[in-house]
Amino acid sequence: MTEPKPRQLEPMPDGWHRALAVVAHPDDLEYGCSAAIAQWTDGGREVAYVLATRGEAGIDTLAPDMCGALREREQRASAAVVGVTTVEFLGHRDGVIEYGTALRRDIAAAIRRHRPELVITLNHRDTWGGVAWNTPDHVAVGRATLDAAGDAGNRWIFPELAEQGLEPWNGVRWVAVAGSATPTHAVAAGPGLDRAVRSLLEHRSYIEALTDEDPEQYARGFMTTSTEAAGERFGGKPAVAFELFGR
Ligand SMILES: [Zn+2]
Repeated sequence: MTEPKPRQLEPMPDGWHRALAVVAHPDDLEYGCSAAIAQWTDGGREVAYVLATRGEAGIDTLAPDMCGALREREQRASAAVVGVTTVEFLGHRDGVIEYGTALRRDIAAAIRRHRPELVITLNHRDTWGGVAWNTPDHVAVGRATLDAAGDAGNRWIFPELAEQGLEPWNGVRWVAVAGSATPTHAVAAGPGLDRAVRSLLEHRSYIEALTDEDPEQYARGFMTTSTEAAGERFGGKPAVAFELFGR
């Protein structure tokens, strides 16, 4: 018996100029979508990163006050590899980010500052698919980002933002969720793939604490496996997959 062919992913929309990626931790974008981001910045699009935390609870052998500064540096370096020079940190506490109006307000403010048409975030669902449990930070930030895309356009939800000079921005047309178990769209990883590997490698302290494998082999292996898996549903070419929510 032959397996039914999985449904093919649609190409990501390309009618946009500015994207804002909002995630919980340093490395969240490098593990998922930096190959896509490299392609976009090559094509002249602007992409900025906003991170809810500095990832200070991410390395067991390093206390948070040391770790936060190190991971912030690594994140800025890894963003630069894929053409991203604006990286902001919202200062929430790693591991215990709370979903709620404070987080929605911070993300809505970031959306108003950057005025993107495309917002990118990471899987907001309980699992990565099956029984692979997601972390509470990813769930909180992903969900708050989907919500904040609407909040950013409404003058009356967080009126204090307009008082600070951040006028409503109702121009977000899509929120693209990376790492979703139910993707709908994809971007060919193509020439962005090498830079995605180098971008992940910039998180060297984190990777060295995580695995005994050679960091370069580890980064290349991860990127190859994940982009080939998405590519099976995108014409057989390595790809980065997203679940796209239109607005
Ligand atoms: Zn993370």
